[in-house]
Amino acid sequence: MTRLPSLFVSHGAPTYAIEPGEAGRHLAQLGQSIERPRAVLVMSPHWITRGLAITAAAAPPTIHDFGGFPPELYRLQYPAPGQPQLARAAAALLEAAGHRVALDERRGLDHGAWVPLMHLFPDADVPVVQLSMPADLDGSSAWRLGAALAPLAADGVLIVGSGSLTHNLYEIRDGDEAAEPYAVEFVEWARDAAVALDRERLVHALERAPHGRRAHPTPDHFLPLPFAAGAAANDAQVQVLPGGIRYGVLSMESYLFGSDAAAALTTSSAR
Ligand code: ZN
Repeated sequence: MTRLPSLFVSHGAPTYAIEPGEAGRHLAQLGQSIERPRAVLVMSPHWITRGLAITAAAAPPTIHDFGGFPPELYRLQYPAPGQPQLARAAAALLEAAGHRVALDERRGLDHGAWVPLMHLFPDADVPVVQLSMPADLDGSSAWRLGAALAPLAADGVLIVGSGSLTHNLYEIRDGDEAAEPYAVEFVEWARDAAVALDRERLVHALERAPHGRRAHPTPDHFLPLPFAAGAAANDAQVQVLPGGIRYGVLSMESYLFGSDAAAALTTSSAR
């Protein structure tokens, strides 16, 4: 099996589940064009723990961890199976890198995990394991966590970091009016760093990028990007999955780190 790419995906707001838009279309196309993974390992900022934890349930429930949204969102289910064996393999890799890892046999998938996966693999037939985000995670440690798990990519596992390329919830507006210029500026800087797979810039983005602190008042929705990039091969080609900016300030842009998959995606979109 060839090495699978890793993916940073922007999950925006929970309404993304029922309003796929441009970003959802790109994920659906990606799901059909990449080599089918034997499982997905996803990190989302909606499960923050002391230390590291991994879901180890055989059938992880769908968690509706949001309030005040349309009732239909609470009826959605993403019944992908878990894979306790993968949870143990991931824990072993992380322990070899010096971490303590708790296996959580009850925890399900939060919306940061299942909403984008619903677009990527709508049949929910690829097993999913979720990794928690340690409360003290920073850019460097996010990158190193991805790198520690990289051997799984060579073994058929799609490693996904789910966050949002920009994420200032205090500035959200109704509808998709013109994007705030600061958000556009941050996205362009981050895109350059992601496409170059530039570890220095990705790890220190929130201090160095224009408007880093405004785009991310807290770092949790950005850190899945250095996590996914850290899981990629050094020479990975990077594919941009455009998604535009929703609600004036929420970038839905995603990145695929991996040459083979990027080639496949280019081919299929050229058809
Ligand atoms: Zn979120």
